[in-house]
Amino acid sequence: MGETAYGGRAGGQGVAVSTPASEDPDAEIGAVRGAVQALCARFPGEYWRHLDRERAYPSQFVAALTEAGFLAALIPEEYGGSGLSLRAAAAIMEEIHACGCNGAACHAQMYTMGTLLRHGSAEQKSHFLPRIARGELRLQAFGVTEPASGTDTLSLRTTATREGDHYIVNGQKIWTSRAEHSDLMLLLARTTPREQVARRTDGLSVFILDMRLAQGTGMSINPIRTMMNHATTEVFFDDLRVPAENLIGEEGKGFRYILSGMNAERILIAAECVGDARWFIAKASAYGKERVVFGRPIGQNQGVQFPIARAYTQMCAAELMVREAAGLYDSLRDCAAQANMAKLIAADASWEAADMCVQTHGGFGFAEEFDIERKFRETRLYQVAPISTNLILSYIAEHVLGLPRSY
Ligand SMILES: Cc1cc2nc3c(=O)[nH]c(=O)nc-3n(C[C@H](O)[C@H](O)[C@H](O)COP(=O)(O)OP(=O)(O)OC[C@H]3O[C@@H](n4cnc5c(N)ncnc54)[C@H](O)[C@@H]3O)c2cc1C
Repeated sequence: MGETAYGGRAGGQGVAVSTPASEDPDAEIGAVRGAVQALCARFPGEYWRHLDRERAYPSQFVAALTEAGFLAALIPEEYGGSGLSLRAAAAIMEEIHACGCNGAACHAQMYTMGTLLRHGSAEQKSHFLPRIARGELRLQAFGVTEPASGTDTLSLRTTATREGDHYIVNGQKIWTSRAEHSDLMLLLARTTPREQVARRTDGLSVFILDMRLAQGTGMSINPIRTMMNHATTEVFFDDLRVPAENLIGEEGKGFRYILSGMNAERILIAAECVGDARWFIAKASAYGKERVVFGRPIGQNQGVQFPIARAYTQMCAAELMVREAAGLYDSLRDCAAQANMAKLIAADASWEAADMCVQTHGGFGFAEEFDIERKFRETRLYQVAPISTNLILSYIAEHVLGLPRSY
């Protein structure tokens, strides 16, 4: 049994799964895919297994992606990035996952940067973006979710109160992933009490927080151990002083700024799910051909091959929706419905493929060295975060189908 192109032991030769989008006619995107595959080949299953066991951060992998410029894909060239399309960025994330690696260690930098790019001042952009593009600063932490408010972001309780040329921040965030491996955090906090705002979406503001200065001077970080290796944390703010110049855009408009980045986030995460599905399907197809029981390959049995074929079909449908959503995004058209639907069906496709892959491998699906149980745990997250499935369904019900708002 050897290492496959997907970074793990497939129990036989790896099978490249050909799909509509992975055979992209766009030469630039094809080249990006090839470059990502070459980089990922340096980080095989053993690398991820070891980190998973230790719950350690993939620093070398993230450094390699940064050095190759992949994490600056969406930063415009004038700020030192490569100014690629969202379709190209989605291809990067898809390939990372299709190779058995995990982009969750660093994907936030791609989409949180958009808030700064779209709503930051000229000074903020020229100060931060080139440094992020060069890898001198990491913008990996995104502080939105809180323990009490959960999905109901408008009920968040962290406050930022203006005092002279500073804001004083108090409160707590939870599930702030990569906080220990980031220099900067995009922080959403309430600047006007809820009962004093004209519109319910007003009163929240976004800050770009320098975590290197904040650590120990009003901010503390507590890691949360989870079912997969995700470097997530809870973050506490106790009279943290944040310079007023770190406010992004207008005070009170932060919720809209965060929402404006959600479509890119949904599309990139959906692409990761498609990548995961490709990995599971390749792994299962290879094993179905190689594993012989009752004198024939298990994949000769329809009971084994049909779930693989079904998972492949679902993945291709998800991939087309990701491509559609990213194309709309790149042509500056409304893509909210497509971005949400892409995230929904891609997360379902990866989860179905994960379940199928475990089943196809029987007992070996549970063995650490096959990497399947690790990827299974990793891909389960996407039913819940960064947006849970129910909230996508309610978005489609309300905003696409015109059904009454349910919450
Ligand atoms: C590993 C991990 C990493 C994360 N990283 C980040 C991060 O970096 N930054 C960040 O800000 N957040 C992060 N999150 C938070 C994530 O976005 C939330 O967990 C997610 O949005 C759901 O919120 P919640 O956990 O509070 O669930 P809750 O809001 O408590 O909801 C629990 C369940 O009830 C359902 N539900 C709630 N209300 C409704 C309703 N009205 N209708 C139907 N169903 C409903 C939800 O869909 C969910 O299934 C992360 C979470 C995890 C687990």
